[in-house]
Amino acid sequence: MRALVAGGAGYIGSHAVRALLEAGHEVRVLDDLSAGHRAAVPAGVPLFEADIADRDAVSRALEGCDAVLHFAALLSVGGSVRDPLAYWRNNVAKAIALIDAMDAAGVRRFVFSSTCATFGVPVRVPMDEDHPQAPINPYGASKLALERALRDLAAAGVLRAVALRYFNASGAHEDGSLGEDHAHEEHLIPLAIDAALGRRPPLTVFGEDYDTPDGTCIRDYIHVQDLAVAHVQALEALERGDAFQAYNLGTGRGHSVREVVDCVGRVLGTPVPHSVGPRRAGDPPRLVAAAERARATFGFAPRFTDLGAIVDTAARWRRDHPQGYRTRP
Ligand code: UDP
Repeated sequence: MRALVAGGAGYIGSHAVRALLEAGHEVRVLDDLSAGHRAAVPAGVPLFEADIADRDAVSRALEGCDAVLHFAALLSVGGSVRDPLAYWRNNVAKAIALIDAMDAAGVRRFVFSSTCATFGVPVRVPMDEDHPQAPINPYGASKLALERALRDLAAAGVLRAVALRYFNASGAHEDGSLGEDHAHEEHLIPLAIDAALGRRPPLTVFGEDYDTPDGTCIRDYIHVQDLAVAHVQALEALERGDAFQAYNLGTGRGHSVREVVDCVGRVLGTPVPHSVGPRRAGDPPRLVAAAERARATFGFAPRFTDLGAIVDTAARWRRDHPQGYRTRP
């Protein structure tokens, strides 16, 4: 297939580009480089440097494509609480503009980066796809809105779509060539690594009064290469079954913030300096995936099942790329 990867210069998108190429697909990248990096796009892959709502540029990029994989979105829970309009504009309005351009171009396969944040506070854990969706922050709400739009469009025959609900994407490519490089890093694992390396202030643990064994939040950390492979599998499975499908992608294992902090310390051989602060707005206490549907439907089977192995890839990336993609070899 020829796939257009919107946001293909970003963290998860760039790993998906690699996985698509390895599976023999032809790939183009659409990215305005507001958060993505030119260096993350492999030589030989055409890069269309444009906003996903730039109709002319998107129409050119879509020529001859069979599918769109859409990663070009804002991704921070905290950021969405601070600036909800940006999340509704980028994650909903611009995504609809992208789908409008696809419709005009006759491209009818769509793989969507969704999130476990669409579920809100769990009523049961682990969470399967039928868990009620009641997001508690604008990030989750914006992703759920697009899921609902895709469900309607699929029912009307406009496209076939799959929503992949990631739990906590983490790690870096094991060959050391791709990793996480955000201008304002807010995620636990990179911040803990940088704190241990003395590159950032001590980590703040956001709350230790949750109803969990050690009082800190529990998350399901899934390696970014496992997510990338799942996109290829889901794309290839899109022809079968319902026109709209949703899958949870996680390892099924939860780790508390304290466990992550200890794990980073073990991997780096030096403790993570940290203190405990108040809870962060919008954080559910526990999010763990039941990913049985993805396993049964398209053979999803994460290779990275050990948190230490995931942290190790992230730590190598950050050690070798102190300035992210701007690091000179
Ligand atoms: N977290 C933390 N300190 C930080 C960043 C994150 O304690 O500086 C916690 C956060 O409250 C959550 C977990 O780490 O319970 C994972 O947060 P992250 O932002 O990495 O991912 P999210 O779960 O929000 O997608």
